[in-house]
Amino acid sequence: MYSIKQEATRCLKCKKPQCSAHCPVSTDIPRVMELFLNGGIREAGELLFLNNPLSAVTSVICPHEKNCTGHCVLGKKGEPIHFYNVESYISRFYMETTDVPEIEKNGIKIAVAGSGPAGITMSILLLLNGYDVTMFEAQDNIGGVLRYGIPPFRLPREILDTYKDVMLRMGLHFRPNTRIGSNIMIDDLFPDGYKAVFVSTGTGRPNKLGLLGETLGHVHFAVDYLKSPEAFKLGNRVAIVGAGNVAIDAARTAIRRNHSHVTILHFMGENDMTANQDEIEMAEIDGVEFVHYAQAVRILENAVRCVRVKRIENEDGSVSFEEDYTEIFDVPADSVIIAIGQGPGADMRAAGVKLTQRGLLEVNEWGETDTPGVFAAGDIVSGPRTVVEAVAFTKKVFQRMEEYLGRR
Ligand SMILES: Cc1cc2nc3c(=O)[nH]c(=O)nc-3n(C[C@H](O)[C@H](O)[C@H](O)COP(=O)(O)OP(=O)(O)OC[C@H]3O[C@@H](n4cnc5c(N)ncnc54)[C@H](O)[C@@H]3O)c2cc1C
Repeated sequence: MYSIKQEATRCLKCKKPQCSAHCPVSTDIPRVMELFLNGGIREAGELLFLNNPLSAVTSVICPHEKNCTGHCVLGKKGEPIHFYNVESYISRFYMETTDVPEIEKNGIKIAVAGSGPAGITMSILLLLNGYDVTMFEAQDNIGGVLRYGIPPFRLPREILDTYKDVMLRMGLHFRPNTRIGSNIMIDDLFPDGYKAVFVSTGTGRPNKLGLLGETLGHVHFAVDYLKSPEAFKLGNRVAIVGAGNVAIDAARTAIRRNHSHVTILHFMGENDMTANQDEIEMAEIDGVEFVHYAQAVRILENAVRCVRVKRIENEDGSVSFEEDYTEIFDVPADSVIIAIGQGPGADMRAAGVKLTQRGLLEVNEWGETDTPGVFAAGDIVSGPRTVVEAVAFTKKVFQRMEEYLGRR
């Protein structure tokens, strides 16, 4: 393990840095490293913040192996640079020590629906450019999945509190516990003087398995559990159905809440799981057990009934899975948590903007909906993805919103 100074020194400052090329927000990593090494931590922090207002978050929870770290040239023969450790230190230092700048207000009112990564990014960009921003949030605090999904042992909540504090000091109006598309509709906003609306309401509705037993009292959805784990009494044996990062977060949370046997079951093999490899490893270290090739077919009072699944490698190189109904077995469970993906809630259906077949908001490549003045980004547009992807697209939408408002 290298210190952050050693990491910055080891960095080759490549002319064509592959780390930056594979970063969805194209962070200028060599420049940040150079500034940091030459006593310019504030300049480095500013560079990071202006390019990616959520750098204090993405440095902690990005899938680094797929982005910067995974493409560092040093990784071809040895240990790649772990830029995210340097970035995390710089970004938090910058957020915690930098005064909010004096910004001339332009008097243009914008409404932001949702305070997850997309909503925070858009609000900061707007506030930095003098807009009068009101953020409407269905929950009682800002953050979206960052606060009500990703467990605190992976992302400390103080980071989000710092963001809230910074945005409020920049002049943000925050309306907690307020749903757009429920009592306040998008059409209500324009008569009150808002010139544009940004929708970033995410995909908070959990997908169902569609099995018998799913409505029983000991069955829960992972995204509901992760919102407030302390509200759930799960018993000793917890079975989690799913193979992605949300299943892993639910399992690692349950282990930390002293549920002694936590098992993840899913229909694929270990190497087919959609969760990040390092998250799977951490779950194994924490003591989570895995049952691979198990297709849940019914939920019983004290178990998940499964059938064995066979992995088939097809001639064209693709892989498929086939249930073998001759092999039936039960995974014992006092509680069952379902983590098989999320989709959009019903609010936007009521809000009157055009939706795709999946219920996501239909936008063009610049995040414009079919309703003039209404823009959108984040998971509500892309379906469940990553924080840094939400930031990247929101930046693009901000540019188009400014053009729409005649500011560019
Ligand atoms: C458990 C979990 C773990 C994850 N781990 C990672 C990870 O490690 N790394 C990573 O990069 N990505 C991770 N992701 C994905 C990532 O969190 C999302 O891609 C990202 O949060 C999307 O941002 P968003 O702003 O579009 O939506 P969200 O974060 O979902 O925020 C939407 C916000 O809108 C609010 N809202 C909803 N409806 C309304 C309404 N009608 N009116 C007003 N407000 C509303 C919600 O309450 C919420 O605060 C994870 C996701 C989950 C569920």
